Amino acid sequence: MHRYIAAILSLLITLVSAGQSSQWEEVEKDFLLGKINYAEDIRFKKLPATICTKENAYLLTTVCDSLEKMIKAANESGINFKVISASRNFAQQKGIWEKKWLARKTKYPNGLDRAKNILLYSSMPGTSRHHWGTDFDLNALDPKYFSQGNGKKEYDWLCMNAARFGFYQPYDANPNRTGYQEEKWHWSFFPIGQQLTQNYLEQIQYEDLGPFSGSTYAQEINVIQHYVNGIQNPPNP
Ligand SMILES: [Zn+2]
Repeated sequence: MHRYIAAILSLLITLVSAGQSSQWEEVEKDFLLGKINYAEDIRFKKLPATICTKENAYLLTTVCDSLEKMIKAANESGINFKVISASRNFAQQKGIWEKKWLARKTKYPNGLDRAKNILLYSSMPGTSRHHWGTDFDLNALDPKYFSQGNGKKEYDWLCMNAARFGFYQPYDANPNRTGYQEEKWHWSFFPIGQQLTQNYLEQIQYEDLGPFSGSTYAQEINVIQHYVNGIQNPPNP
C-alpha cells in the first residue's frame, strides 16, 4: 500500500513538473519531426543497460526516470521489462521505412497500397511518436507474445499499473481509433506526449514531411489526421 501511495505521489510530482514547465508548449518543428541528435541533446538521457536491450538508447530525462521507477516496481512483483526500442530519429525511421518499401515492391507494386501495408505497424519518417523521447517498445514486437504466458502477465501488469507512472498504450484495441494496428508493446508518457501531439497537429504540414520513398502518398493517406492523431486518449490523471 505504501508503495502505491509513493507511486501516486511521484506521478503527481511528475505531472506538476511536466505541467508547470512551458518547455513542451513550444517545441521546434525539427524536434517534432525527429530531426534530433539524441546523444547531444541535453533534454535526453541514455537508458541504463539494466532496462534496455540496446546500447545508446535515449528517452527524455523525465520519461526515463519514470520508466526506471515503473520497471523497478514491476520487478518487485516478479515482472520483467526491457526496452527494445526507444527514441528513433528521422534518419533511423527513414531506414526502417525504406527497407520495408523495397521489400514490398513485388507484392505491392502500387505505391499507395504499399504505403498502407507498411503503415499497419510502422510510421512514415517524421510522423513517429518514437521521435519525441516519450514513447518506447517493451519486450516483444509481437501481438501473439502478449496474448499468453509471461507476455500476458506483463501486459496485464501494465494495464493495471502503468498509468501510476504516467504511461499508457496509445495504440489500443479501440475500434473507433484510426491508424496503426493495436500495439501492446508500445507505451507512451502522456504528461508530455499529449502536449507534443497537440503541437504536432498545430505545427506540422504535409510540406514538412519527407523526403523519403513514398512520401508523396502521405497527404492522400491523410497520415497526420489518421495516424499521428489516431491514438487513444490518455487516462485522466
Ligand atoms: Zn513503438
